[in-house]
Amino acid sequence: MKAWRLNAPHSLELTDIESQSVADDCAKIKLKYSAVSESDIMMYSGKIPFTSPIVLGRQGIGMVTEVGKDVKNISRGDMVAIRPFSACGCCQMCFDGRMSDCDNLAVYGQSANGFLCDFAVVKANDAYKLPDRLDKKSALLLEHVDMAITAINALKLERGEHIVINGASYLGIILAQLALSYQAVPIVVDIDKERLAIAEKYVYYVLDFSEVDVRKRVMTITGGRMSETVVHIPQCGLPLNQALLLAAKNGRVALAGWENTTELNGINVSPILNRQLTVTGINGSNNNFPSAINMLVNKTVQVDFDKMPDVNFKDTDKVFENYTNSKNKFILSRIVMD
Ligand SMILES: [Zn+2]
Repeated sequence: MKAWRLNAPHSLELTDIESQSVADDCAKIKLKYSAVSESDIMMYSGKIPFTSPIVLGRQGIGMVTEVGKDVKNISRGDMVAIRPFSACGCCQMCFDGRMSDCDNLAVYGQSANGFLCDFAVVKANDAYKLPDRLDKKSALLLEHVDMAITAINALKLERGEHIVINGASYLGIILAQLALSYQAVPIVVDIDKERLAIAEKYVYYVLDFSEVDVRKRVMTITGGRMSETVVHIPQCGLPLNQALLLAAKNGRVALAGWENTTELNGINVSPILNRQLTVTGINGSNNNFPSAINMLVNKTVQVDFDKMPDVNFKDTDKVFENYTNSKNKFILSRIVMD
């Protein structure tokens, strides 16, 4: 099996790795698409520590070529998306059905071999069949949709409520579309012109932090109450303090990002006390892949972002070498297998 393996920080090689046998509860997948994500870059640059060589790649889409004898959920020939984590299935959290809170959670591309490879063997429960009519490339954003669902649920967003989305990344734009489907009123804030232009295709209230007094605008839009809910996306680099000031008294705030990719130093948290805000953290995929697949299929959310570059598998290393700035998006490039 061919794989991009990280041997040490900044030491990525395309190598042959021994093919794994397929255990009774596992499936072998021929990868079709993967991605270079910010967490892969953090691994590459040594910001996320690891102890032994590891195949990078958090997202994986591919075709099932073999299944173990106990596998019921997928069959040979199915196109599947693999969720970015694997749960042990034996701890209390797993018994309670809270797989993403598993005590022994493995994250693909970080603590288990990921999907920048031609074949992978995974637990079949980590793979979800994709309907024929779904654009398979779009499934690389399933984790984003999953996180958006988690955020909306955590905020208990209700019809007619406002939701300020501080950051127009892919996640922010997906969140805004999901909020619309709940008949809530999304207000997207950013400073990056490219991201704002994409947001305008989907959302009515799009505010440029560099051009308008965002606080005043939100006050006007909400009839003086400020926003019942706020989602701050740290990856976009906007100030959290400002996001907190956009929340109404007793407002609900979520920070949504990926583990280990965010540092929040020197934050003034007094608005949390002054306004009695409830703050929640949302990190990565949270057991919502089936709902996320449905939302892509029925176009509740659209992820046809044409700015995501396609890179051939053999050129994967160039994405890492040429990496400069990921402020626009969590997924930097879509990797296409032969
Ligand atoms: Zn577990």
